[in-house]
Amino acid sequence: MVQLTFQLARRFQLLFAMTIASSSGLNGASSPTANNGRVPSASSVRPDRSKSHGLMPPTTDESDQEAMQDAVRTLLISVGEDPDREGLLKTPKRVAEAMRFLTSGYHQSLEDLVNGAIFDEGHNEMVLVRDINAFSLCEHHMLPFMGKVHVAYIPDQKVVGLSKLARIVEMYSRRLQVQERLTRQIAEAVQSILDPQGVAVVMEASHMCMVMRGVQKPGSWTVTSAMLGVFQEDSKTREEFLSLIRHQPAFT
Ligand SMILES: [Zn+2]
Repeated sequence: MVQLTFQLARRFQLLFAMTIASSSGLNGASSPTANNGRVPSASSVRPDRSKSHGLMPPTTDESDQEAMQDAVRTLLISVGEDPDREGLLKTPKRVAEAMRFLTSGYHQSLEDLVNGAIFDEGHNEMVLVRDINAFSLCEHHMLPFMGKVHVAYIPDQKVVGLSKLARIVEMYSRRLQVQERLTRQIAEAVQSILDPQGVAVVMEASHMCMVMRGVQKPGSWTVTSAMLGVFQEDSKTREEFLSLIRHQPAFT
């Protein structure tokens, strides 16, 4: 089983590299597991996921695409399927393309995404965008987790185009994630582009790794939050935010 895992890991290359590197608990190139030749050089340096800019090099390379397709073929064989039967012939290619899309957030940067859409409005009241749909992959099982994200901030003069908040959620969602880190990265991103008085992010999500397997608890969901600045320091501000996200809008 260990052997199989390693074979798959080699084949999944970039996709699995992050998980392997992180299991060592050490940083980047100083990690023996991340640097012993099992992991391709492009990903041997562990992305710093504690920062909001955990960018990885692009995997547009054709050999990466082929490696991913080979990995999917291996998976199909390992589960007892025949990858050469008609219905599965194009599956490796489709899965590789889907994975590329679902992890495309690795190749985006906050700067490019915001692209100057920051305005000096002198507005200092809470801005809240609720119910942003988010779809991500958990890094432990590479299974989807999905739900809603609520993002609020209290500006210090500067505001950002509202759609950019949803784009930030999307960028960090399209990476292998754990919900706690995703929530924090969204908050830190807003903090870093606007330097506001405070940021609050709450995510409510359902994890397919819980719902479909393991403890099999359909209907269970997980709530995570990240509070920065005044949302952390002032309980009244935090309460106002929490009551706003509980409130049901009249128009739905
Ligand atoms: Zn999981």
